Amino acid sequence: MFGTAKSFGVTFAHMFKKQVTEKYPEVRKPTAPRYHGRHILNRHPDGLEKCVGCELCAWACPADAIFVEGGNNTEHARYSPGERYAKDYQINYARCIFCGLCIEACPTRSLTMSNEYELAADNRKDLIFTKEMLLAPLMEGMEQPPHPMRLGDSEKDYYVKALDDPGTSVGAERSQREQWVADHTAADSEAARLAELRDEAAVTEDEHPSKAPNLAGDPSKEVKK
Ligand code: SF4
Ligand code: SF4
Repeated sequence: MFGTAKSFGVTFAHMFKKQVTEKYPEVRKPTAPRYHGRHILNRHPDGLEKCVGCELCAWACPADAIFVEGGNNTEHARYSPGERYAKDYQINYARCIFCGLCIEACPTRSLTMSNEYELAADNRKDLIFTKEMLLAPLMEGMEQPPHPMRLGDSEKDYYVKALDDPGTSVGAERSQREQWVADHTAADSEAARLAELRDEAAVTEDEHPSKAPNLAGDPSKEVKK
């Protein structure tokens, strides 16, 4: 009897709490920028693939979710600036646990993770993403491989130039992340600083009215007229 009443007590208590249910799928709340979602195989600014088929991502994967088969680039068919490229590349999302170890292992920043999380399917086959599905789309100025190297004579030229023009990986992520950090920290730290100043002002004014900090000029102290 007491146990039943206690259980109902928990239920009733929750009836008056603020609801946290997301109205998904009608409302899709954006994830944090560093959320580990579906992978992307990135491209250099001329469209060549960043993946060099080294298989380090596959070796790093604890769930054995990645399959890579490397192939040799030739002068007539070049897919990446290096010697090798990924002839075949697959990620099995029935196995992937989204740990991110593969993207840490990738030496070329070819493999990164997006924020996409809608990956459900009603059969296992559809959860195996092929290279074509994972490759970043061609953006303006990019050309569908195979084609010759357009940004330099060696792969080193590509990696040096990537510092300024990262193609479809690091740059976009970084600017998005910086914006998110700015949005979530600047306002918070400014609010905390102002709250601190207000507390300090209140205490000092009580004790020594003439020594209260002068907050004139602080935008937060502007009076609405
Ligand atoms: S995120 Fe983790 S589990 Fe998924 S493919 Fe990469 S290493 Fe494997
Ligand atoms: S994605 Fe990166 S680690 Fe994986 S095969 Fe390609 S270059 Fe190597």
